[in-house]
Amino acid sequence: MTGAKRYDVVVVGAGVFGAWTALALAQRGKRVALLEAYGPGHSRSSSGDESRIIRMGYGADEVYTRWSGRSLRLWKELLAARNETLFQETGVLWLAEAGNASLEATREVLTRSGVRFKELDRAALVRKYPQINFEGIASGIYEPESGVLLARRCVTAVVEIAQKMGVEYQLAQVIAPRGSGELSHVETSGGETFAASQFVFACGAWLGKMFPDVLAERIFPTRQEVFYFGVPAGDERFSPPALPTFLFKTDESYGVPNLESRGLKIALDRHGERVDPDTQSRVVTASELERIRKYVAYRFPALAEAPVVETRVCQYENTASGDFLVDLHPAMPNVWLVGGGSGHGFKHGPAMGEYVAGQLFRAKGEPRFSLASKLTVQSRTVF
Ligand SMILES: Cc1cc2nc3c(=O)[nH]c(=O)nc-3n(C[C@H](O)[C@H](O)[C@H](O)COP(=O)(O)OP(=O)(O)OC[C@H]3O[C@@H](n4cnc5c(N)ncnc54)[C@H](O)[C@@H]3O)c2cc1C
Repeated sequence: MTGAKRYDVVVVGAGVFGAWTALALAQRGKRVALLEAYGPGHSRSSSGDESRIIRMGYGADEVYTRWSGRSLRLWKELLAARNETLFQETGVLWLAEAGNASLEATREVLTRSGVRFKELDRAALVRKYPQINFEGIASGIYEPESGVLLARRCVTAVVEIAQKMGVEYQLAQVIAPRGSGELSHVETSGGETFAASQFVFACGAWLGKMFPDVLAERIFPTRQEVFYFGVPAGDERFSPPALPTFLFKTDESYGVPNLESRGLKIALDRHGERVDPDTQSRVVTASELERIRKYVAYRFPALAEAPVVETRVCQYENTASGDFLVDLHPAMPNVWLVGGGSGHGFKHGPAMGEYVAGQLFRAKGEPRFSLASKLTVQSRTVF
């Protein structure tokens, strides 16, 4: 083939998984091209919101606790040189009703893993966080060293650093490869050709569109609406350290305190309808707004009349169970499928990058991330 640029690895998609994969490969001395259709951390990507929670607790799913711990270290190391604070150590507070199995398992795994945390009974919660209505909540687990990554800007930072390490980043839409056998190159909609020995498709919710035969039924992109409520003027109760990042396991809700004065961020961790990431509406629905308003008034009574100051509509790129996907395409032996972040992937970008780079050069794989384990009927087990 003439005119093709040649690399060791072409990575398609500069969301958090693709960006960290490109960086990890460059750190191993590989010649890498990173191709992205819309721009790193763009508004339609799953990595594109202002903030993403990084927590260590994962119920009984210890592999993710390990990955979170490793990732937090790597995020901090990478971001240390930036003159902006892209990791905010807000602390993360888990809240649940009595006997909640996930909270029990989280407590066990955090203890076994040596993660610092504090248990709070209901009386302690009420004392410490008078701005919250703890009806139905029996106890909490507080992770003081966890917090929030300023997501969109984190992805941009990773891509910038990767470029400094030699990664060639280019804004380009890659045309879905077809056929079978080793892939020699990919083509872009602009007519350019990129040849490589290996290819990583870290295309988030677009994976099903890229590889419909294999993934259309195995990646479930769902609509997720996120709201930011303006806090009262001169009131610090909804900002850190007065309010940490929180997860109400009982209500399947989560939120981030008022960071950078953008308001209290809140959303439900329930899967919305199936959507197309290119075309789904990014305007929140009146019904969801109504539901979340009532919820905010219930849990944060002082915000009952608070204005909505921002909204986001994003998509999860779920696998059936919520486990990640990192495996070879079954018919293309040098094409890696990387994704399935399933509403909890962002924090794991660094560990994912290391893992994918290892897989390309034959490290032992985690069975939970295999394509064979990806079912076509959803039954979520990872939260
Ligand atoms: C509302 C919401 C809240 C979340 N909260 C959290 C949280 O608190 N903590 C957490 O850890 N995780 C969270 N997540 C999950 C996390 O954001 C995702 O799992 C993660 O961002 C997925 O990253 P990705 O790189 O796989 O996908 P994406 O960020 O979507 O990136 C994929 C990229 O591939 C590009 N691409 C696709 N097709 C092509 C093509 N043909 N050519 C070139 N480029 C292409 C896209 O443009 C896109 O930029 C949340 C997700 C949502 C939606």
